[in-house]
Amino acid sequence: MNRTAAIVLLALAGAAASLAACAKNAATGKTQFNLMSRDREIAMGMQAGPEMTKAYGGEVPDQVLRDYVTRIGLKVAQGVEKEYRDIPWKFTLLNSDVINAFALPGGQVFMSRGMMVRMSNEAQLAGVLGHEIGHVTAEHIDQRLGREQAIQIGAAVAGAAAGAEYGQLIEAGILQGGGAFSLKYGRDEESQADSLGMRYMARAGYNPEGQLQVMQILKEASKGGGGGPEWLSTHPAPQTRIDRIKELLKDKYAKTRDNPAYAWNEASFAPMLERLKALPPAPKAK
Ligand SMILES: [Zn+2]
Repeated sequence: MNRTAAIVLLALAGAAASLAACAKNAATGKTQFNLMSRDREIAMGMQAGPEMTKAYGGEVPDQVLRDYVTRIGLKVAQGVEKEYRDIPWKFTLLNSDVINAFALPGGQVFMSRGMMVRMSNEAQLAGVLGHEIGHVTAEHIDQRLGREQAIQIGAAVAGAAAGAEYGQLIEAGILQGGGAFSLKYGRDEESQADSLGMRYMARAGYNPEGQLQVMQILKEASKGGGGGPEWLSTHPAPQTRIDRIKELLKDKYAKTRDNPAYAWNEASFAPMLERLKALPPAPKAK
């Protein structure tokens, strides 16, 4: 259980009462059982978003950087299927050195400065944001939840709420939840998010090979010991993912290779990287 999962748990308290429905997902083409309606997903994201931001040191103290990540995120999000166009996408650059990115249902996408500082071009940024957008459109969190679990978790969190500080509340939620819910995705979900991310970034005019570079960056970062990037603990199966991304690049995206229509935008990324490196140090994680 990590911070991300804990905060999602909290927000689920509100989702527990919503009605489940069977529907075809426009991004994946698969029929799936949805616990939450779109409105519920958005409400959950709105509710959990500020706490999630706070848990990761708040937003970076630089409006230019925040606007930049938002601009690239919105550009990539324009490539989503029409069923998802009305999602109120929001992109948050977290003031945290951990290497992570994640999304809440309803269109809230988060990325740490620790992740961004390891990048060298805009296509990589588009790759990470596109991957997280893919988790949202494929409704992966929703899929992870059994209705029973949500109700159980909701009751546990609600029961612990009276007079508790935020930290205690989360702890109580975790104890009561007893590992019933984890934000850790499976390898199929990861590859699906990679593939959707490549679709959206390519539609936005970015070279989808940026997605492969992101995986190489993470692989490199995980060699440092200390358990590796937090991102890999919620986004497993790096080798499987690399293999599938390579297949897509060779096959579906062959025409994007060395094609100037699919940008890397190193030059526009470089000054942002400079700004990022010049920021005061991120607060230490609690
Ligand atoms: Zn993922």
